[in-house]
Amino acid sequence: MNIEKVEIAVIGAGLGGAAAAALLAGAGFSVHSFEQAPAFTRLGAGIHIGPNVMKIFRRIGIEKKLEQIGSHPDFWFSRDGMTGDYLSRIPLGDYGRKEYGASYITIHRGDMHAVQIDALPQDKVHFGHRLTGIEERETDVLLTFENGRRVAAGLVVGADGINSMIRDMLLGPEKPRFSGWVGHRALVNMDKLRNSGLEFEACVKWWWEASRHIMAYATKGDGSEYYYVTGVPVDGWEHETSFVDSSREEMEAIFGGSHPMVQALVDATETVTKWPFWNRDPLNIWSRGRLVMLGDACHPMRPHMAQGACMAIEDAAILTRCLEESGMAGYKDAFSLYEATRRERATKVQTISNANTWLKQPEDPAWVYAYDPLTAALG
Ligand code: FAD
Repeated sequence: MNIEKVEIAVIGAGLGGAAAAALLAGAGFSVHSFEQAPAFTRLGAGIHIGPNVMKIFRRIGIEKKLEQIGSHPDFWFSRDGMTGDYLSRIPLGDYGRKEYGASYITIHRGDMHAVQIDALPQDKVHFGHRLTGIEERETDVLLTFENGRRVAAGLVVGADGINSMIRDMLLGPEKPRFSGWVGHRALVNMDKLRNSGLEFEACVKWWWEASRHIMAYATKGDGSEYYYVTGVPVDGWEHETSFVDSSREEMEAIFGGSHPMVQALVDATETVTKWPFWNRDPLNIWSRGRLVMLGDACHPMRPHMAQGACMAIEDAAILTRCLEESGMAGYKDAFSLYEATRRERATKVQTISNANTWLKQPEDPAWVYAYDPLTAALG
């Protein structure tokens, strides 16, 4: 089979990869995305996107659309799971727009991802392309896909998630570590929720002892969808699949007897799945030669700060700026500058996210949300 040539290949069109492809294309590079999935479906899960990343979506041209779809919480509340007492009220909404320079939204991740993919040049997004071979050559990298296609890329961006093949290539194969925590994810039955007669806040984290929690929020601006994800420590994870089915009974067993609003959430649960949270220690290197990584490929984290995808998208913005500054020929300098700019911030977020302390008590989140990856100093 012929070998095709591309300037930049982005492996993985997940949340970070789709952002990288859009930003690099916007900066004038010729970019192709290769994604193993045959297509993306609207998986039942929500996501928070902070103002730090909405600024990047503004540059890509999708900020307004996401603002129209998503929910705009006025606060991130933290509450005691038993008594309902407020532990913190972090202002977002209009306050966030003014202080941090963009909206804070919560949205269905499938809706957001679809908008991200639609924003890409469709002839340069290749679904059903699972990368299986990487050969570093003098002037390019030869990529082989499961379907037999071969592509010679000037640069390769590994946005291929926690089980990254690019990571394995750079650092040797190593499975991620099970963090000891799982998350239950559910879009609740809205009729049942409304029948409870209770007023549900647009963004609230319920806390119990030992950091067990439920993060609950709206995923649509019209309030027609409400979602929760839990964090629960467990003894181990013996399943081979990326998630398994859970049940209302399991939710009742873990959270039953809590505050009436939590009970109403449990009662409104119909379909709920259970996901293991994986982890890695910060990596020694983020790039080698013509290969560079971003997002979960190089700094996966437990999701408790709601910033994992945000960090992947920030990576994409900084990597693009570094390559813009150096041009293709200066990629080595660009990759060093990228790592020098990103390592400290990504590692700090990874550490706090894993510790699961974010916004439990009153604190100033400006260092995360006010950051502007499009203008921040490089290096
Ligand atoms: P991914 O989104 O995982 O994308 C990787 C892509 O690469 C996938 O599409 C995959 O199919 C593809 N791929 C993998 N291998 C290959 C291959 N060999 N060839 C071709 N393609 C390949 N983050 C937030 O910012 N806010 C939140 O509120 C939030 N909530 C979360 C809740 C939970 C329960 C979890 C588990 C995570 C949450 N995150 C959140 C984190 C976020 O989901 C991840 O950090 C983010 O998806 C990482 O983006 P990525 O592009 O690096 O990887």
